Amino acid sequence: MDHLCPVCNGLTSLEQACAHCKNRLEDAGRLYDRYGSYSPYREIDDAKMDNGYPDRQQHQCLHTGWCAQCGLEQTVIVQEWTPDMLDAQKDAFR
Ligand SMILES: [Zn+2]
Ligand SMILES: [Zn+2]
Repeated sequence: MDHLCPVCNGLTSLEQACAHCKNRLEDAGRLYDRYGSYSPYREIDDAKMDNGYPDRQQHQCLHTGWCAQCGLEQTVIVQEWTPDMLDAQKDAFR
């Protein structure tokens, strides 16, 4: 089993406060999914290759956070979970 992003997999939500108003950011990926007009995750994968952001080797997943209050968008880097961390999380729910 490989690393996985807990946000992409619905295990946690983004934990990032808006830099402007401190409101909790929504995951814009899910927002775009809802409206069906945009495919953020593929763009994130593309971005990993050529813009200097951490790539898959570092097991980080880039999300676009969106503030519902002021409309600010910012990139949120989510640390992907290892299988060990995933197991620990499952234990915690037991
Ligand atoms: Zn993700
Ligand atoms: Zn805000």
